[in-house]
Amino acid sequence: NLFDEKPIRRQEIAANVTNFMNPKGHINPFTQLSLKLASRGFTITFLVFEHIHQEITQARNTTRPATSPDPGDIFEGVRKGSEPLDIRYRVVSDGLPLEFDRTGRLEEHLDWYLNGSVYDKLEEAVGEIVMGSKPRPNVLVVDTFYPWASKIAKMFELYHASFWTEPALVFNLYYHVHLLREHAHFDCPDLRKDPINYIPGVKSIEPKDLMSYLQEKNTSTNMHKLIFTSFEDVRFADCVLCNTVQDLESDTVLILKKLMPFYPIGPIFRTKLSLNIVHTSLWCESSCTNWLDQQPDGSVLYVSFGSLANFTQDDLMEFASGLKLSNVSFLWVLRPRTVLHEHGELLPEGFEEEVNGRGVVVPWTDQIAILSHRAIAGFLTHCGWNSVLESIWNQIPMLCFPVFGDQPTNRKLIVDDWRIGTNLCDGTSMKRKDIASKIQSFMSQKSRVEFCKNIQELRKLLENTLDIDGSSVKNIDVFIKNSEMYWS
Ligand code: UDP
Repeated sequence: NLFDEKPIRRQEIAANVTNFMNPKGHINPFTQLSLKLASRGFTITFLVFEHIHQEITQARNTTRPATSPDPGDIFEGVRKGSEPLDIRYRVVSDGLPLEFDRTGRLEEHLDWYLNGSVYDKLEEAVGEIVMGSKPRPNVLVVDTFYPWASKIAKMFELYHASFWTEPALVFNLYYHVHLLREHAHFDCPDLRKDPINYIPGVKSIEPKDLMSYLQEKNTSTNMHKLIFTSFEDVRFADCVLCNTVQDLESDTVLILKKLMPFYPIGPIFRTKLSLNIVHTSLWCESSCTNWLDQQPDGSVLYVSFGSLANFTQDDLMEFASGLKLSNVSFLWVLRPRTVLHEHGELLPEGFEEEVNGRGVVVPWTDQIAILSHRAIAGFLTHCGWNSVLESIWNQIPMLCFPVFGDQPTNRKLIVDDWRIGTNLCDGTSMKRKDIASKIQSFMSQKSRVEFCKNIQELRKLLENTLDIDGSSVKNIDVFIKNSEMYWS
């Protein structure tokens, strides 16, 4: 087990969270990677944006008893045995005032992000860390969606590891976006609709399964600029760390390994860390275990759309009505402001009473704990990559409702390639009766037998990869060795 090994050396790695919004799907893997590396003896400096730090602190303060000590930073008190881990937490401004409302103003926020102000702030912060801390940092780990990482790494002579938190397939498609353009599957007035079969490492993929940004007509948005610039920059990285498992995506990984030092090091969970962690979560969570404990084994549908997906009020109402009509027991994570610009109640008053205790709605919960509960039978998911890996780990088949970004592509992996789930919706608006009948059929024993069998196999792959001679453990070793060669 990687995490029980003796520390091999002490050096410093600046793990840099540079995401403009507040996606848990990026921050959670960064947190877990930092813990993983720190538990092997590295000193970590963890950079986080001020507005994200503020959200974490506020969430903590709302649940903390007034008499308890200050919650500290997210790594405070983390130990391996009696040894504290050396993780230094540092907050950096993105240059915008804290009061700037970042939700639902992505294009505007990105405008600011792309005009260089964020670059200046990060350069300054990394510079201070490099010049001022002991030991001197050697490696910069940066989210692949941060488009100037290689420039900063070069400036301070740091080994640059780009951290990709989505599947290798999605990385591969963005990396080869020029081929999609050349073949008129992207950014062209007369888009082809036939399957795409010329991307190295991808047998075939339907245009509808591309990431949402590669299906849009307008390709000159700030989001597109960010993606294109980031994928130009990643070509200069010293390596790419990816939160996937080699055997899950073997063809794609093989091709990417030929193109660059590409290291699948997933799944990055807290599950296998034998650490004492004081603050188990970054966000305020509702405990649903009392309710779940009263439910029969394998009877509950867990519903969550992750930390970013949004709906219109009408679509949300239709979904809620479908869930109610299905007569299935459910636990639904409904984030505040799932409907943009909506600050009031999302569901009609009395929704929970109307389902007669058959369902519970919470704003956020400990998803990993929920998925491992014996009462959970299925996961109605937006197909966020972390959710997919967590579902596989807990052997919970998925009912897919992809919304945007990499989610349509992740859906293809779940439903078409691995056969561990089925579709709820194909992107078009759905009516409550269809939603109800799809949920009913998914929850019926018959339809889930095959999914359960397949998902058991995948769980074994994930377990094997974390063994002492598993591919993810070996890949982390290679990453460490290569970065060491760079320093010497
Ligand atoms: N999550 C959680 N509690 C919730 C819902 C989600 O802790 O109530 C976590 C989940 O375990 C996962 C992350 O939030 O690690 C969501 O990441 P994902 O990639 O699935 O989706 P994103 O939020 O990036 O769209």
